[in-house]
Amino acid sequence: MGGFGSGRNFGKTTTSSVRSIKVKDLGVCGRATESVQVQYEKDGQSVEHIIFLSHTACNYGGTRCWFRCPYCSRNVGILYLASGQCACRHCFSLVHKSGQESSIDRLYRKVGKIRKRLGWQQGIIQPDGEKPKGMHWKTFDKLIAEHDEIARRLFGLTHQWCKKMTNRLKGESA
Ligand SMILES: [Zn+2]
Repeated sequence: MGGFGSGRNFGKTTTSSVRSIKVKDLGVCGRATESVQVQYEKDGQSVEHIIFLSHTACNYGGTRCWFRCPYCSRNVGILYLASGQCACRHCFSLVHKSGQESSIDRLYRKVGKIRKRLGWQQGIIQPDGEKPKGMHWKTFDKLIAEHDEIARRLFGLTHQWCKKMTNRLKGESA
């Protein structure tokens, strides 16, 4: 159950198996429609996305219309629906493959393991602890060096990520 629309009925319905939507299937090109509402059911829950459109002029006259990806504001012809999210393929591959988010996760896991070995409290913003009893200084120094290197990278990545999110939010409110 579910379907596409923008408040008006375009006479199109889809099933819950919808995985992607094509802007050209919506019949909104050439109309001054600014947004479309995409609605479908997922696990018995109704999921709704409002997607903004942009219209660009064609070289040969007329206009072409695009979805504005809700995440990166790129103009795209196809949006994908998965896990209750609606995004362009760039954003999905960013989250699902080796994007920056996942490398942050990986580093957090790695630094968490080191802190556990040292018997320190979890979290790089927590104060550093002592050398555990029975651990060789050589091992300790090696772990500290690794810990600090990862912490340095994490602070850098987190800073970049915050900047990206801030820009994204600015783009959305524009
Ligand atoms: Zn995107």
